[in-house]
Amino acid sequence: MSNNEKHVKVLILGSGPAGLSAALYAARAELNPVVLTGMQLGGQAALTHAIENYPGFPTGVGGAELGELFQKQAEHFGAKVEFDMAHEVDFSQRPYTVKTDSGVYKADTLIISTGASSIHLGVSGEVEMTGRGVSYCATCDGWFFKDKKVVVVGGGDSAFEEALFITRYASSVTLIHRREEFRAGAILQKRAKDHPKMNFILNTVVTEVLQGDKLTTLKLKNVKTSEESAFETDGLFIFIGHSPNTEMFKGKLEMNNLGYIKVNDKMETNVPGVYAAGEAADPHFRQVITSAGMGAAAAIQATRFLEAEE
Ligand SMILES: Cc1cc2nc3c(=O)[nH]c(=O)nc-3n(C[C@H](O)[C@H](O)[C@H](O)COP(=O)(O)OP(=O)(O)OC[C@H]3O[C@@H](n4cnc5c(N)ncnc54)[C@H](O)[C@@H]3O)c2cc1C
Repeated sequence: MSNNEKHVKVLILGSGPAGLSAALYAARAELNPVVLTGMQLGGQAALTHAIENYPGFPTGVGGAELGELFQKQAEHFGAKVEFDMAHEVDFSQRPYTVKTDSGVYKADTLIISTGASSIHLGVSGEVEMTGRGVSYCATCDGWFFKDKKVVVVGGGDSAFEEALFITRYASSVTLIHRREEFRAGAILQKRAKDHPKMNFILNTVVTEVLQGDKLTTLKLKNVKTSEESAFETDGLFIFIGHSPNTEMFKGKLEMNNLGYIKVNDKMETNVPGVYAAGEAADPHFRQVITSAGMGAAAAIQATRFLEAEE
């Protein structure tokens, strides 16, 4: 084994709710798990200012704070959290090989909890204006839009939660949605509709982000009438969904047509000793609590798998 090659019983890819919950369980089973954080310590949950639906926090908890608590608890029981990114896996023989930025891991079992990333609109100017008015994270960037006009695109829970958060800073928040109806929960919809700073444009899509030093104008199109218009705004926040971070496993693990890793009710993939948990394997629920639950289940199953081998 070379110097930068490490052998571990349980390797966990991802430090979101699924990965850190898996780490807690594997650590308490005395398996000395190693968690590779990827680029986003705490996962997507760390990107949101408040999580109000994770039990145990009656008045909510900051997303980043919850991630830190998950991490501390896992580390308290012996998990090692490494700032590292996996980029290649080889499942042809055990222990499985995972190549990372810092070296190579040989893992007896692997828990994939690489989560998901924001989907882009895919319109002209979006990439060029990211960081100059276009954002996918209200907690990170909301503050820059103090007393400014902001547009939020999306119709689900995330779009509503984040739009409401931005009202703390912005002078107005216009939520643009391509449909007539929203997917967001009733409580969030009511809060947003009652908010004096919130406006809504329905049946409309953004077709272009005009480029310049900073964002000033979006081009919009009404999907019912095909009427086009220009809309002045200082900020554009996009919350239209996520796609799983599973590119690395294509052709190596069974997936559905959207790239979510297929698991059975024990979080097992089609490769023995390889588990997937959280949004990498969950196109349905996509919550902190469900992801954490899947992570715990994957670690319990990995523990049983290793015990059966001994
Ligand atoms: C803006 C926003 C607000 C939200 N609000 C709520 C809410 O109020 N309540 C709620 O329950 N849920 C909320 N969610 C959803 C919740 O955050 C997710 O369901 C949850 O974080 C998914 O957990 P996960 O561990 O599966 O993946 P993620 O949180 O996506 O974490 C994935 C992890 O994998 C790592 N990673 C990725 N690729 C690699 C790699 N190649 N190697 C190593 N590591 C890698 C990343 O760095 C990250 O640490 C929100 C999401 C967003 C985006």
